[in-house]
Amino acid sequence: MQAVAGRMLDVETGKTIEDALVAFDEERIVYAGAREGYPLGEDTQVWDAGSGTILPGFIDCHAHLTGEEDAGEFGSGKLFGDQLIGAVHQLGLILQSGFTGIRDMSEAGLYLSRGVERGAIQGPRIVPGGRVMGITSGHVDLAPEMSKAEINAHDHLSYLIDGPDDCVRGVREQFRMGAKFIKICATGGVSSPTDRIDDVQFSPEELRAIVGEAKRHHSYVTAHCTGYEGAYQALLAGVECIEHGVMLTPREVELMAKNDVPLVSTLEISLHVANIPGFPDWMHKKALQCRENSLRSVALCREAGIRIALGTDYSNSKNTSYLTLGREFLAMEEAGMTRLEAVRAGTLYAAQVMRVQDLGVLKEGYLSDIVVCDGDPLESLECISDAKHIRFVAAGGRVVKNLLKEKTDSAVAR
Ligand SMILES: [Zn+2]
Repeated sequence: MQAVAGRMLDVETGKTIEDALVAFDEERIVYAGAREGYPLGEDTQVWDAGSGTILPGFIDCHAHLTGEEDAGEFGSGKLFGDQLIGAVHQLGLILQSGFTGIRDMSEAGLYLSRGVERGAIQGPRIVPGGRVMGITSGHVDLAPEMSKAEINAHDHLSYLIDGPDDCVRGVREQFRMGAKFIKICATGGVSSPTDRIDDVQFSPEELRAIVGEAKRHHSYVTAHCTGYEGAYQALLAGVECIEHGVMLTPREVELMAKNDVPLVSTLEISLHVANIPGFPDWMHKKALQCRENSLRSVALCREAGIRIALGTDYSNSKNTSYLTLGREFLAMEEAGMTRLEAVRAGTLYAAQVMRVQDLGVLKEGYLSDIVVCDGDPLESLECISDAKHIRFVAAGGRVVKNLLKEKTDSAVAR
């Protein structure tokens, strides 16, 4: 058994315990609370959190593991095998930054989730959604020079579906590969060359076909939504989670509140996408519409009490490093969320969006995903924004990063 001693944030109550202890085994947290009075066995190793804070491992609810940029280090970067190795490398960086869970939308995530689960590779726990599905000419139709058949046969991120029958087949195809949920694009987006960001991309019949099929697999559908009309149509069809939600209006937010639909906001990208250098002109023009609208959406959701979960939308390490995934916490504060709300978004609510039980809180019986940062996130979120501030990471009970000193003061520990 191992334990970490020091300041702990209970993300459920929002209370900080200054002199706390979190004891854990290879799978579960055995104790989390005031250190006083908890009897430690002789064989328990106790790590000193120092001036840092003990937190639940962070979760990124919107990732696209492609490995593309890092594949260059391991080969041509063009072959999927190399990209997979690049993605394995990225999993290591993600752990270093304190993220012990990701909800992924890509083909690679399907294989990697199984690799992590079996212990064959080290990484955060992954809930895979398989390839992102959209219409021909829509948000994931990123290569108009290729035919739909070619994209569906060879792409590792996108999957094109048109018409209710094709939609049902596409959903089944993702489940066949091991997807645990279904991700669709209900509207256009910034990076797609042949649509507008407020295009509605599936007909109501198609949306109903997708949602119905996912439900028959005891699963659910989440929808990429930039424009509001597509978000509204998706919500009407029974989509259970909204990604980005850039242009939400009171009408959609009311429906989200009524159906308890969470928002996975991806604010680091939504607020700053217009500043990323090197975009072609058409992409830059689309990007300019994101910041103000996102700020408004987040304000509306907060007012309505909608659960906001953390997502980064990272897909490569060209513009952003996986070591700074935690910058999303800073973006949340920039968008008006309190620091506690931001931490909850990356732990408590993210675990709910992952639909993994007993995760996202430091509590007896919960899974041993534990992080220690080098400051107090309620004072400043800087201390969880970058891997360099993360001192300790246990993922699934396995300590994968530890810069803490062992506590030898037995009078205090025992
Ligand atoms: Zn995305």
